[in-house]
Amino acid sequence: MTSRPAAGRVRTDACPGALQTHPAADGALARVRVPGGLLTAAQLGALAAAARDLGDGALELTSRGNVQLRGLPPGAEPVLGDRLAAAGLLPSATHERVRNVLASALTGRAGGHADARPWVRALDAALCADPALAALPGRYLATLDDGRGDVTGLGGDVGLLALSPGTVALVLAGVDSGLRAAPGAAVDLALAATRAFLEERAAQGGTAWRLAELDDGPAAVLARLGPAGEGGLPRAGDRPGTSGPVGSVVQDDGRVALVGVVPLGRLSAGQADLLARVTGEVQLTPWRSVVVPDLAEDAVDDVAVALHRTGVVFDADSPWTRVTACAGRPGCAKSLADVRADAARAVAAGELPAGGVRQHWAGCARRCGRPRGEVVDVVATGTGYRTG
Ligand code: SF4
Repeated sequence: MTSRPAAGRVRTDACPGALQTHPAADGALARVRVPGGLLTAAQLGALAAAARDLGDGALELTSRGNVQLRGLPPGAEPVLGDRLAAAGLLPSATHERVRNVLASALTGRAGGHADARPWVRALDAALCADPALAALPGRYLATLDDGRGDVTGLGGDVGLLALSPGTVALVLAGVDSGLRAAPGAAVDLALAATRAFLEERAAQGGTAWRLAELDDGPAAVLARLGPAGEGGLPRAGDRPGTSGPVGSVVQDDGRVALVGVVPLGRLSAGQADLLARVTGEVQLTPWRSVVVPDLAEDAVDDVAVALHRTGVVFDADSPWTRVTACAGRPGCAKSLADVRADAARAVAAGELPAGGVRQHWAGCARRCGRPRGEVVDVVATGTGYRTG
Protein backbone atom coordinates (compact mmCIF):
# COMPACT_ATOMS: atom_id res chain seq x y z
CA MET A 1 0.00 0.00 0.00
CA THR A 2 1.04 3.58 -0.56
CA SER A 3 2.19 5.06 2.70
CA ARG A 4 0.53 8.28 3.80
CA PRO A 5 2.81 11.21 4.40
CA ALA A 6 2.70 12.49 7.98
CA ALA A 7 1.38 15.82 6.78
CA GLY A 8 -0.34 17.00 3.64
CA ARG A 9 1.70 17.46 0.52
CA VAL A 10 3.19 20.93 0.40
CA ARG A 11 3.60 21.08 -3.37
CA THR A 12 1.65 20.05 -6.39
CA ASP A 13 2.86 16.93 -8.13
CA ALA A 14 5.38 17.43 -10.90
CA CYS A 15 4.83 14.20 -12.80
CA PRO A 16 6.19 14.67 -16.28
CA GLY A 17 4.00 14.49 -19.34
CA ALA A 18 4.58 14.74 -23.04
CA LEU A 19 4.29 18.53 -23.02
CA GLN A 20 5.37 19.19 -19.43
CA THR A 21 8.74 17.42 -19.57
CA HIS A 22 11.16 16.73 -16.73
CA PRO A 23 14.68 18.14 -16.96
CA ALA A 24 16.88 15.06 -16.48
CA ALA A 25 20.66 14.95 -16.64
CA ASP A 26 20.57 13.51 -20.15
CA GLY A 27 18.06 16.02 -21.51
CA ALA A 28 14.33 16.48 -21.21
CA LEU A 29 12.24 13.42 -20.32
CA ALA A 30 8.73 13.10 -21.72
CA ARG A 31 6.18 10.61 -20.42
CA VAL A 32 3.47 9.58 -22.86
CA ARG A 33 0.39 8.09 -21.27
CA VAL A 34 -0.81 4.88 -22.90
CA PRO A 35 -4.16 3.95 -21.33
CA GLY A 36 -4.39 0.20 -20.86
CA GLY A 37 -0.93 -0.09 -22.45
CA LEU A 38 -2.75 -0.43 -25.75
CA LEU A 39 -0.95 0.85 -28.84
CA THR A 40 -1.73 0.30 -32.48
CA ALA A 41 1.16 -0.60 -34.75
CA ALA A 42 0.97 2.89 -36.25
CA GLN A 43 1.19 4.51 -32.82
CA LEU A 44 4.14 2.32 -31.88
CA GLY A 45 5.82 3.30 -35.12
CA ALA A 46 5.20 6.99 -34.39
CA LEU A 47 6.77 6.62 -30.94
CA ALA A 48 9.76 4.82 -32.43
CA ALA A 49 10.24 7.60 -34.99
CA ALA A 50 9.99 10.25 -32.27
CA ALA A 51 12.57 8.42 -30.14
CA ARG A 52 14.89 8.17 -33.10
CA ASP A 53 14.41 11.73 -34.39
CA LEU A 54 14.04 13.65 -31.14
CA GLY A 55 15.25 11.46 -28.28
CA ASP A 56 17.97 8.98 -27.45
CA GLY A 57 16.69 6.29 -29.80
CA ALA A 58 14.75 4.20 -27.29
CA LEU A 59 11.41 4.00 -25.53
CA GLU A 60 11.32 3.37 -21.80
CA LEU A 61 8.47 1.20 -20.58
CA THR A 62 7.19 2.23 -17.17
CA SER A 63 5.54 0.35 -14.32
CA ARG A 64 2.23 1.93 -15.35
CA GLY A 65 2.39 0.69 -18.89
CA ASN A 66 3.35 4.13 -20.16
CA VAL A 67 6.25 5.17 -22.40
CA GLN A 68 9.03 7.64 -21.76
CA LEU A 69 11.32 9.36 -24.24
CA ARG A 70 14.67 10.55 -22.91
CA GLY A 71 17.39 12.87 -24.10
CA LEU A 72 15.09 15.39 -25.77
CA PRO A 73 16.73 18.67 -26.75
CA PRO A 74 15.46 22.01 -25.39
CA GLY A 75 12.25 23.10 -27.03
CA ALA A 76 11.34 19.70 -28.45
CA GLU A 77 7.97 19.61 -26.70
CA PRO A 78 5.84 21.28 -29.42
CA VAL A 79 7.24 19.02 -32.15
CA LEU A 80 6.76 15.96 -29.98
CA GLY A 81 3.26 17.09 -29.09
CA ASP A 82 2.33 17.53 -32.76
CA ARG A 83 3.64 14.07 -33.61
CA LEU A 84 1.81 12.45 -30.70
CA ALA A 85 -1.43 14.26 -31.50
CA ALA A 86 -1.22 13.16 -35.14
CA ALA A 87 -0.86 9.57 -33.94
CA GLY A 88 -3.83 9.84 -31.56
CA LEU A 89 -1.56 9.68 -28.52
CA LEU A 90 -2.40 13.13 -27.20
CA PRO A 91 -6.18 13.49 -27.28
CA SER A 92 -6.16 16.31 -24.75
CA ALA A 93 -3.33 18.72 -23.99
CA THR A 94 -5.00 19.67 -20.71
CA HIS A 95 -5.53 16.10 -19.52
CA GLU A 96 -2.44 14.37 -20.82
CA ARG A 97 -0.92 13.66 -17.37
CA VAL A 98 -4.10 12.26 -15.80
CA ARG A 99 -4.68 9.43 -18.30
CA ASN A 100 -3.07 6.81 -16.05
CA VAL A 101 -5.03 3.64 -16.72
CA LEU A 102 -3.76 0.10 -16.21
CA ALA A 103 -5.68 -2.83 -17.69
CA SER A 104 -5.25 -6.56 -17.30
CA ALA A 105 -2.64 -8.01 -19.61
CA LEU A 106 -4.18 -10.07 -22.41
CA THR A 107 -7.63 -8.73 -21.60
CA GLY A 108 -10.22 -9.56 -24.21
CA ARG A 109 -7.91 -12.13 -25.72
CA ALA A 110 -7.28 -14.81 -23.13
CA GLY A 111 -8.90 -15.38 -19.75
CA GLY A 112 -10.71 -12.95 -17.48
CA HIS A 113 -14.43 -12.46 -16.89
CA ALA A 114 -14.66 -9.40 -19.11
CA ASP A 115 -12.90 -7.46 -21.83
CA ALA A 116 -11.40 -4.41 -20.14
CA ARG A 117 -10.49 -2.71 -23.41
CA PRO A 118 -13.89 -1.00 -23.87
CA TRP A 119 -13.57 0.22 -20.27
CA VAL A 120 -10.16 1.69 -21.12
CA ARG A 121 -11.53 3.57 -24.11
CA ALA A 122 -14.63 4.78 -22.29
CA LEU A 123 -12.79 5.87 -19.16
CA ASP A 124 -10.10 7.67 -21.14
CA ALA A 125 -12.65 9.49 -23.29
CA ALA A 126 -14.68 10.52 -20.25
CA LEU A 127 -11.59 11.71 -18.36
CA CYS A 128 -10.56 13.87 -21.29
CA ALA A 129 -14.10 15.21 -21.82
CA ASP A 130 -14.51 16.65 -18.33
CA PRO A 131 -12.55 19.89 -17.77
CA ALA A 132 -12.80 19.42 -13.99
CA LEU A 133 -10.87 16.16 -14.18
CA ALA A 134 -7.82 17.95 -15.55
CA ALA A 135 -7.25 18.84 -11.90
CA LEU A 136 -6.45 15.23 -11.01
CA PRO A 137 -2.91 14.73 -9.76
CA GLY A 138 -0.55 13.24 -12.34
CA ARG A 139 -0.09 10.24 -10.06
CA TYR A 140 -3.76 9.30 -9.91
CA LEU A 141 -4.15 5.77 -11.26
CA ALA A 142 -7.10 3.68 -12.39
CA THR A 143 -6.81 -0.10 -12.57
CA LEU A 144 -9.23 -1.98 -14.83
CA ASP A 145 -9.01 -5.64 -13.91
CA ASP A 146 -10.93 -8.16 -15.97
CA GLY A 147 -11.08 -10.59 -13.07
CA ARG A 148 -7.70 -12.28 -13.30
CA GLY A 149 -6.47 -10.09 -10.44
CA ASP A 150 -3.25 -8.96 -12.08
CA VAL A 151 -3.54 -5.18 -11.81
CA THR A 152 -5.88 -4.64 -8.85
CA GLY A 153 -2.96 -4.90 -6.46
CA LEU A 154 -0.77 -2.41 -8.29
CA GLY A 155 -1.59 0.65 -6.26
CA GLY A 156 -4.56 2.13 -8.07
CA ASP A 157 -6.58 4.95 -6.56
CA VAL A 158 -9.75 3.73 -8.19
CA GLY A 159 -10.20 0.27 -9.61
CA LEU A 160 -12.70 -1.95 -11.33
CA LEU A 161 -12.45 -5.68 -10.70
CA ALA A 162 -14.74 -8.07 -12.55
CA LEU A 163 -16.05 -10.68 -10.12
CA SER A 164 -18.05 -12.53 -12.76
CA PRO A 165 -19.19 -11.80 -16.32
CA GLY A 166 -22.07 -9.77 -14.88
CA THR A 167 -20.66 -8.13 -11.75
CA VAL A 168 -17.88 -5.63 -11.25
CA ALA A 169 -16.51 -4.44 -7.91
CA LEU A 170 -15.32 -0.91 -7.23
CA VAL A 171 -11.97 -0.91 -5.45
CA LEU A 172 -10.68 2.23 -3.70
CA ALA A 173 -6.97 2.42 -2.89
CA GLY A 174 -6.81 -1.38 -2.89
CA VAL A 175 -9.84 -1.78 -0.63
CA ASP A 176 -13.08 -3.36 -1.77
CA SER A 177 -15.69 -0.60 -1.52
CA GLY A 178 -18.60 -3.04 -1.47
CA LEU A 179 -20.13 -1.19 -4.41
CA ARG A 180 -21.02 -3.31 -7.43
CA ALA A 181 -22.02 -2.49 -10.99
CA ALA A 182 -22.93 -4.27 -14.18
CA PRO A 183 -20.08 -4.19 -16.72
CA GLY A 184 -21.88 -1.58 -18.79
CA ALA A 185 -22.18 0.78 -15.83
CA ALA A 186 -18.77 0.14 -14.29
CA VAL A 187 -16.93 3.02 -15.94
CA ASP A 188 -19.56 5.49 -14.71
CA LEU A 189 -19.00 4.17 -11.20
CA ALA A 190 -15.23 4.63 -11.52
CA LEU A 191 -15.79 8.16 -12.81
CA ALA A 192 -18.12 8.95 -9.92
CA ALA A 193 -15.45 7.72 -7.51
CA THR A 194 -12.85 9.84 -9.27
CA ARG A 195 -14.97 12.96 -8.94
CA ALA A 196 -15.65 12.06 -5.30
CA PHE A 197 -11.90 11.82 -4.76
CA LEU A 198 -11.45 15.36 -6.06
CA GLU A 199 -14.28 16.64 -3.84
CA GLU A 200 -12.88 14.92 -0.76
CA ARG A 201 -9.39 16.09 -1.63
CA ALA A 202 -10.62 19.68 -1.77
CA ALA A 203 -12.44 19.22 1.55
CA GLN A 204 -9.23 17.97 3.15
CA GLY A 205 -7.06 20.83 1.94
CA GLY A 206 -6.42 19.93 -1.67
CA THR A 207 -2.87 18.67 -1.26
CA ALA A 208 -3.14 14.87 -1.54
CA TRP A 209 -1.73 13.19 -4.63
CA ARG A 210 -3.27 9.80 -3.95
CA LEU A 211 -6.58 8.57 -2.55
CA ALA A 212 -4.71 6.64 0.14
CA GLU A 213 -3.18 9.88 1.40
CA LEU A 214 -6.58 11.26 2.40
CA ASP A 215 -7.75 10.77 5.97
CA ASP A 216 -9.88 7.61 5.82
CA GLY A 217 -9.58 7.91 2.05
CA PRO A 218 -11.58 4.89 0.86
CA ALA A 219 -14.32 5.42 3.47
CA ALA A 220 -14.50 9.16 2.85
CA VAL A 221 -14.81 8.71 -0.91
CA LEU A 222 -17.32 5.91 -0.46
CA ALA A 223 -19.45 8.13 1.79
CA ARG A 224 -19.77 10.56 -1.11
CA LEU A 225 -20.95 7.77 -3.40
CA GLY A 226 -23.87 6.52 -1.33
CA PRO A 227 -24.67 3.29 0.50
CA ALA A 228 -22.52 0.26 -0.21
CA GLY A 229 -22.75 -3.43 0.44
CA GLU A 230 -20.47 -5.40 2.67
CA GLY A 231 -17.44 -5.65 0.41
CA GLY A 232 -15.24 -8.42 1.67
CA LEU A 233 -12.84 -9.08 -1.18
CA PRO A 234 -9.34 -9.76 0.08
CA ARG A 235 -7.37 -6.56 0.43
CA ALA A 236 -6.12 -6.18 -3.09
CA GLY A 237 -3.02 -4.34 -1.94
CA ASP A 238 -1.86 -7.43 -0.09
CA ARG A 239 -1.56 -9.54 -3.19
CA PRO A 240 1.98 -10.73 -3.76
CA GLY A 241 3.82 -9.06 -6.60
CA THR A 242 4.37 -10.96 -9.81
CA SER A 243 6.34 -10.53 -12.96
CA GLY A 244 3.29 -11.04 -15.16
CA PRO A 245 2.85 -13.66 -17.86
CA VAL A 246 5.84 -14.52 -20.07
CA GLY A 247 5.97 -16.66 -23.22
CA SER A 248 3.19 -17.83 -25.50
CA VAL A 249 -0.49 -17.85 -24.59
CA VAL A 250 -3.26 -19.43 -26.63
CA GLN A 251 -6.03 -16.87 -27.01
CA ASP A 252 -9.70 -17.67 -26.61
CA ASP A 253 -10.08 -17.39 -30.39
CA GLY A 254 -7.34 -19.98 -31.02
CA ARG A 255 -4.72 -17.52 -32.15
CA VAL A 256 -1.58 -16.97 -30.08
CA ALA A 257 -0.22 -14.07 -28.08
CA LEU A 258 3.46 -13.76 -27.29
CA VAL A 259 4.44 -11.96 -24.11
CA GLY A 260 8.05 -10.82 -24.09
CA VAL A 261 9.99 -9.08 -21.34
CA VAL A 262 11.97 -6.04 -22.44
CA PRO A 263 15.14 -6.06 -20.31
CA LEU A 264 15.21 -3.01 -18.04
CA GLY A 265 12.19 -1.69 -19.93
CA ARG A 266 14.35 -0.18 -22.67
CA LEU A 267 12.77 -0.81 -26.06
CA SER A 268 14.93 0.42 -28.93
CA ALA A 269 13.31 2.21 -31.85
CA GLY A 270 14.39 -0.74 -34.00
CA GLN A 271 12.62 -3.22 -31.71
CA ALA A 272 9.51 -1.04 -31.72
CA ASP A 273 9.55 -0.90 -35.51
CA LEU A 274 9.86 -4.68 -35.66
CA LEU A 275 6.91 -5.08 -33.29
CA ALA A 276 4.87 -2.70 -35.41
CA ARG A 277 5.57 -4.83 -38.47
CA VAL A 278 4.48 -8.16 -36.98
CA THR A 279 1.18 -7.22 -35.35
CA GLY A 280 -1.60 -4.67 -35.60
CA GLU A 281 -1.65 -3.81 -31.90
CA VAL A 282 0.53 -4.36 -28.84
CA GLN A 283 -0.20 -4.11 -25.16
CA LEU A 284 2.46 -2.77 -22.82
CA THR A 285 2.27 -4.28 -19.35
CA PRO A 286 3.24 -2.90 -15.94
CA TRP A 287 5.98 -5.55 -15.85
CA ARG A 288 7.91 -3.90 -18.69
CA SER A 289 6.83 -6.59 -21.07
CA VAL A 290 4.95 -6.36 -24.31
CA VAL A 291 2.05 -8.50 -25.52
CA VAL A 292 2.18 -9.33 -29.22
CA PRO A 293 -1.33 -10.65 -29.85
CA ASP A 294 -3.39 -12.23 -32.60
CA LEU A 295 -0.64 -14.32 -34.20
CA ALA A 296 -1.49 -17.27 -36.40
CA GLU A 297 -0.09 -20.45 -34.92
CA ASP A 298 2.29 -21.00 -37.83
CA ALA A 299 3.72 -17.48 -37.47
CA VAL A 300 4.56 -17.68 -33.78
CA ASP A 301 8.02 -19.22 -34.02
CA ASP A 302 9.25 -16.80 -36.66
CA VAL A 303 8.03 -13.78 -34.68
CA ALA A 304 9.48 -15.11 -31.43
CA VAL A 305 12.86 -15.81 -33.02
CA ALA A 306 13.01 -12.39 -34.69
CA LEU A 307 12.18 -10.57 -31.48
CA HIS A 308 14.43 -12.79 -29.37
CA ARG A 309 17.36 -11.90 -31.63
CA THR A 310 16.86 -8.25 -30.66
CA GLY A 311 16.88 -9.08 -26.95
CA VAL A 312 13.20 -9.57 -26.10
CA VAL A 313 12.88 -12.38 -23.55
CA PHE A 314 10.25 -15.11 -23.82
CA ASP A 315 11.73 -17.50 -21.24
CA ALA A 316 9.75 -17.31 -18.00
CA ASP A 317 12.81 -18.58 -16.11
CA SER A 318 15.11 -15.86 -17.42
CA PRO A 319 16.64 -13.64 -14.73
CA TRP A 320 15.39 -10.69 -16.77
CA THR A 321 11.89 -11.48 -15.55
CA ARG A 322 13.07 -10.65 -12.03
CA VAL A 323 15.32 -7.61 -12.52
CA THR A 324 14.25 -3.98 -12.78
CA ALA A 325 16.29 -0.79 -12.46
CA CYS A 326 15.88 2.96 -12.19
CA ALA A 327 17.39 5.26 -14.81
CA GLY A 328 20.70 5.64 -12.98
CA ARG A 329 23.67 7.32 -14.65
CA PRO A 330 23.88 9.09 -17.00
CA GLY A 331 20.18 9.93 -17.05
CA CYS A 332 19.82 10.89 -13.39
CA ALA A 333 22.12 13.38 -11.70
CA LYS A 334 21.43 11.83 -8.29
CA SER A 335 22.65 8.41 -9.28
CA LEU A 336 25.81 6.97 -7.75
CA ALA A 337 26.24 4.36 -10.50
CA ASP A 338 25.27 3.26 -13.98
CA VAL A 339 22.81 0.80 -12.48
CA ARG A 340 21.44 -0.51 -15.77
CA ALA A 341 24.89 -1.41 -17.06
CA ASP A 342 25.79 -2.98 -13.72
CA ALA A 343 22.55 -4.97 -13.59
CA ALA A 344 23.06 -6.16 -17.17
CA ARG A 345 26.60 -7.27 -16.33
CA ALA A 346 25.33 -9.18 -13.29
CA VAL A 347 22.67 -10.93 -15.38
CA ALA A 348 25.18 -11.83 -18.10
CA ALA A 349 27.66 -13.16 -15.56
CA GLY A 350 25.03 -15.09 -13.63
CA GLU A 351 26.00 -13.09 -10.55
CA LEU A 352 22.80 -11.44 -9.41
CA PRO A 353 22.81 -10.72 -5.68
CA ALA A 354 20.37 -12.28 -3.22
CA GLY A 355 20.37 -15.53 -5.11
CA GLY A 356 18.76 -13.89 -8.14
CA VAL A 357 15.37 -13.30 -6.50
CA ARG A 358 13.09 -10.51 -7.75
CA GLN A 359 15.16 -7.36 -7.32
CA HIS A 360 15.24 -3.66 -8.11
CA TRP A 361 18.51 -1.87 -8.79
CA ALA A 362 18.64 1.83 -7.93
CA GLY A 363 21.25 4.56 -8.08
CA CYS A 364 20.18 6.09 -4.78
CA ALA A 365 17.89 5.45 -1.84
CA ARG A 366 14.84 6.92 -3.60
CA ARG A 367 14.53 3.66 -5.52
CA CYS A 368 12.46 5.16 -8.34
CA GLY A 369 10.46 2.66 -10.37
CA ARG A 370 10.50 0.03 -7.64
CA PRO A 371 7.85 -2.59 -8.44
CA ARG A 372 5.21 -3.41 -5.86
CA GLY A 373 5.29 -6.59 -3.84
CA GLU A 374 8.23 -8.53 -2.53
CA VAL A 375 11.36 -7.07 -4.08
CA VAL A 376 14.94 -7.01 -2.83
CA ASP A 377 16.57 -3.58 -3.17
CA VAL A 378 20.02 -3.33 -4.71
CA VAL A 379 21.05 0.26 -4.01
CA ALA A 380 24.24 1.98 -5.16
CA THR A 381 26.40 3.34 -2.34
CA GLY A 382 29.22 4.96 -4.29
CA THR A 383 31.58 2.10 -3.51
CA GLY A 384 29.34 -0.77 -4.57
CA TYR A 385 25.79 -1.88 -3.87
CA ARG A 386 23.86 -2.48 -0.67
CA THR A 387 21.40 -5.36 -0.92
CA GLY A 388 18.47 -5.64 1.40
S1 SF4 B 1 16.44 6.07 -7.65
FE1 SF4 B 1 17.81 7.83 -7.39
S2 SF4 B 1 19.33 7.53 -9.00
FE2 SF4 B 1 17.58 6.27 -9.56
S3 SF4 B 1 16.33 7.55 -10.91
FE3 SF4 B 1 15.56 7.79 -8.80
S4 SF4 B 1 16.60 9.62 -8.02
FE4 SF4 B 1 17.75 8.90 -9.81
